[in-house]
Amino acid sequence: MVIQAAPPTADKPSPSESVIGAMVESAGRLKLDHEVVDLLRTAWREFHAQLPVRMDNGSLRIFEGYRVQHNGARGPYKGGVRYHPQADLDEVRALAMLMTYKCALMDLPFGGAKGGIMCDPTRMSENELKVLTRTYTEHISMILGINRDIPAPDMGTNAQTMAWMMDAYGKRNGYTPGIVTGKPVELGGSYGRDQATGRGVATCMREYARTEGTNPREIRIAVQGYGNVGSWTCRLAAEMGFTVVAVSDIRGGIANPKGIDVAALDKWFGNAGSVVGFPGASAITNEQLLETDCDYLVPAALGEVLTADNAPRVHARVVVEAANHPVTPAADAIFATRQVVVLPDVLMNAGGVTVSYFEWTQNIQQFRWPLEQVNEELEARMKGAFAELSTRVQKDGTSHRQAAFDIALERVGKAIKLRGFV
Ligand code: NAD
Repeated sequence: MVIQAAPPTADKPSPSESVIGAMVESAGRLKLDHEVVDLLRTAWREFHAQLPVRMDNGSLRIFEGYRVQHNGARGPYKGGVRYHPQADLDEVRALAMLMTYKCALMDLPFGGAKGGIMCDPTRMSENELKVLTRTYTEHISMILGINRDIPAPDMGTNAQTMAWMMDAYGKRNGYTPGIVTGKPVELGGSYGRDQATGRGVATCMREYARTEGTNPREIRIAVQGYGNVGSWTCRLAAEMGFTVVAVSDIRGGIANPKGIDVAALDKWFGNAGSVVGFPGASAITNEQLLETDCDYLVPAALGEVLTADNAPRVHARVVVEAANHPVTPAADAIFATRQVVVLPDVLMNAGGVTVSYFEWTQNIQQFRWPLEQVNEELEARMKGAFAELSTRVQKDGTSHRQAAFDIALERVGKAIKLRGFV
C-alpha cells in the first residue's frame, strides 16, 4: 500500500520535512540536478501493515506497522525497526531518509530504510511481542531479502526481536541469517554489534576532543537515555577518560558534577531497571539533564528533544547526536548562533549500521570475525569518516551537519544518475 507524503506545514516541520529540508539545502550548495532532488523528497516504497494480535488476556489488539524504503541506488535497503508509541509513518519515513544519507556518508553499500510499530513494548509480555514481531515479519517479508532489504534493531527492539524476525522469514524462505543484523551471536550475529553504536559515538567524541586540543579527562559529558546506545556510550567514554556527570532514562535522571562511577551504575541498573535512585548522585529530570552544566551533551534516546524552547539554555559547547534527529531545525539555528557545535546523527550513531554491514558480510561468507577485528575495523571506519567530515567543514566553512549531507548527497546523487533512476 502506497501512502502519500504528509502535506508540508511552514511553521513546524514534521520529522521527514526536517530531513528533506536539510537535503534540499545541501542540494543547493552542490547544484544538484533537480530531478535527483525530487526523487529523494519521497520514499521509493512505503508499506503499511495491519497487525492483529491476540493479547494474553484474550482480547484482540490491532497494531499499525510500517516499513519505508527510501532510496536503494547504492545497495539493498538497510535500517532498524522501532517499537515505540510515537513510531508513526512520518517518523519512520524521516528515519529511512536519514539511513540513506548515513550509509552513503559511511560509504557502506546500502540504501536507506526504516521500520516501526506503534506500540509500547514495556507494557507487553514476551509472548505478545513475539506474536507481534512474527505477524509484522510475515506482512513485510515480500519486500525483504538479503539483497533487497535487511532490518536491524532500533529503539524498543533488540537481538531477541531479530531472532524472531529471522525465524519468521525463514519459515517461508529457508534458513537465512543474513536477512537481519543485530541477531544473537548464537544465530550468526556479529561480535561487538551490541556495543557498536556506543563505540562509534565514543570514538567520534574522542576524535572531536583531539581536534579541539582537549584531553577527554577534561571533558564532562551528560547522556540522555541508558538503553543500548546511551549505556555503551557511557561505558566506553568512561574507559577513554571522559567524566560522566549526568545520565537519565524514561523514569528520570541522576547527576554528580564530580563524576558518576559507570561500573557501579551498571550494577545498580541491573537490579533496579533504571538509573533513578543510584546512590551518590542527586535526582534530576530529563529536562534538567539537557540543560545541565557539562561540556558535551549526548542525547541518546528520543528525537526532537532539543527545540527552540530549551536550546538557549543548553550549557554544553558540543551536542553529540547519538539518537536520531534529537535536534530540531530551529534548535540547530540557535546552536549555530550560540556557536554550540552539533555533531550530526548521520555520523555519530553510524557505528551500529557499520557493524551491521560487517555482520551481513560475515553471514554471506559464512565466516565469523573475532571481536578485536570488529572493533578495530569499526574504529578505523569511524575515524576515517570523522576525518573526512572535518576536512570538508574546514574546506567549505559549513556546519558539521551540512558537510555530512554534502558528502552523502554527492554519493547518492552520483549513484542515482549512474543507475539511470532519473
Ligand atoms: P533503547 O530502547 O535501547 O533505549 C532507549 C533509552 O531511551 C532507554 O534508556 C529509555 O528509558 C530512554 N527513553 C525512552 N523514552 C524516553 C523519554 N521520554 N525520555 C527520556 N528517556 C527516554 O534504544 P537505543 O537502541 O539505545 O536507541 C536510542 C536512540 O539511538 C534512538 O534514537 C535510535 O534511533 C538511535 N540509534 C540506535 C542504534 C542502535 O544500534 N540501537 C543505531 C543508531 C541509532
